[in-house]
Amino acid sequence: MTDAVSLIQRKRDGGTLTDAEIRWLFTAYADDEVADEQMSALLMAIFFQGMDTAELRTWTAAMIDSGDRLDLSPVTRPTVDKHSTGGVGDKVSLILAPLVAACGAAVPQLSGRGLGHTGGTLDKLDAIPGFTSALSPERTIQILQEAGAVIAAAGSGLAPADRRLYALRDVTGTVESIPLIASSIMSKKIAEGTESLVLDVKVGTGAFMKSYDKARQLAQTMVTLGREHGVRTAALLTRMDQPLGNAVGNAVEVEESVQALQGNGPPDLMRVTYALAERMLALAGINADPREKIASGAAYEAYRAMIRAQGGDPEARLRQAPHTKVITAATTGWLASLDALGVGVAAWRLGAGRARKEDPVSAAAGIICLAKPGDKLTRGEPVLELRADDERRFAAAEQALDQAIVIEADQPPPPPDPVIELIEG
Ligand code: URA
Repeated sequence: MTDAVSLIQRKRDGGTLTDAEIRWLFTAYADDEVADEQMSALLMAIFFQGMDTAELRTWTAAMIDSGDRLDLSPVTRPTVDKHSTGGVGDKVSLILAPLVAACGAAVPQLSGRGLGHTGGTLDKLDAIPGFTSALSPERTIQILQEAGAVIAAAGSGLAPADRRLYALRDVTGTVESIPLIASSIMSKKIAEGTESLVLDVKVGTGAFMKSYDKARQLAQTMVTLGREHGVRTAALLTRMDQPLGNAVGNAVEVEESVQALQGNGPPDLMRVTYALAERMLALAGINADPREKIASGAAYEAYRAMIRAQGGDPEARLRQAPHTKVITAATTGWLASLDALGVGVAAWRLGAGRARKEDPVSAAAGIICLAKPGDKLTRGEPVLELRADDERRFAAAEQALDQAIVIEADQPPPPPDPVIELIEG
C-alpha cells in the first residue's frame, strides 16, 4: 500500500520512486487523496534531489495522461512545432509558423500568455483586431489543414496536472528545477500531438536560464524526453542577453514580424528564425528553402491566411500608444550592451506584460530599440523609444533601464552569433 508520506520521505532522502508509485501519486492527487501540501513537499524534495531518467519519463507520461491528446492524424502534411523557453522581443513564433507552413509543413502552435518580463505569443496576436486564439480542437485541426499553421491557446484539457503543479511550484519556490521544467514543457508539447518539435532554449540575462550549463542540461533533458515519447526532437541554444530584433511589446512585435515576413527583418531575428526553420524542416523531412519563401512572398501569404482563418484582419492598422518618450545616449561612444532583462522589465512596466495571470496587457505599450549593441552613438542620439497608454508609467520603466544601456569609449568586438549550439540528443 503506497502512501504520500513515505514517497516524500524516500525522495527527500535521495531514493527513487517506481513507475507504479508515480502513477499512483498522479491518480491520488487528481482524486484529492494527496493534498496540495504533500505534493508541495514532494516537489521541494525533487527540487533538491532531482529525478533519474526512468522517473522523469514516467512523471512526464503521467502528466500527459492526466488529460487529452490532440489527435492530429487527419492532418495530411508532416506536423512540426517549436517551443521557446521565452525571451525579450521573442516574436519568432509569429514569423516561423507561417514560414514553415509555406515550406509544406503543418505547424500546430499551442501557446501561452506571458507572465513577468517575457511576453506571450497570444498576447502579441491579441493586438490584431478580431483575432482569436480560443479554438476548439476540431477548428484547430481544420485551420491547420487549410492554412498550414495555427497559433491557439492550449485548452484546459491538455496536461491539466501541469496546470495544478505549476500553480503550486509558483508559490513554493520550486519553479527552477530542470526535471520539473522539462516535464512541464514536454508534457504539453507531447499532448499536442506534433510528430516533430524544435526547442529554442534561451540563455542569458533575459532568459529563464541564465547560465549556459543549466540551459544545455535543460535542452538535453527535453530532447531525451521527446525522443522517449516518440516525438522527433532537437534543441537550439540561443542568446538572450539583448532583445531579439528591435521591438519589445505586443502590437510593435506584430508589426516587426510582418516586416520580417516581407523581407525586412533585423539580422539577429532572422538568424534565429532561419536556424529554427531549417531544423524544423529537417525533422519533418521537407526539402525547402525558407529564405526563398520569404523572398517570394509565400510566407507572408501563409501568415495572412492564418490570421484570417482565426478571425483577424492581417491588414488592420494596430493601435498606437498615445505617449512616447525617447531615451538618448548619455555619452558618445559605442553601445557595448543593451541588457535584455532591463529592457524586458521596462516594457512590462510600460504595460506590455502582466504581473498576475488575470491582469490585462496593453496592446500598444512597448519599446523600440533604435540602436543595437555594436552601434556607434553620439551623445544625445536616440537609443530607445518607450511607448505607453499612460505617461505616468515612464518613470518606473526608466528605473529598470538604469543599468541596461552601457556605452563604452572603445569599439566592442562584434556581437556573437545568437545561435550557440544545436542539441540533437
Ligand atoms: N514553462 C513551462 O511551461 N513550465 C515550466 O515549468 C517553466 C516554463
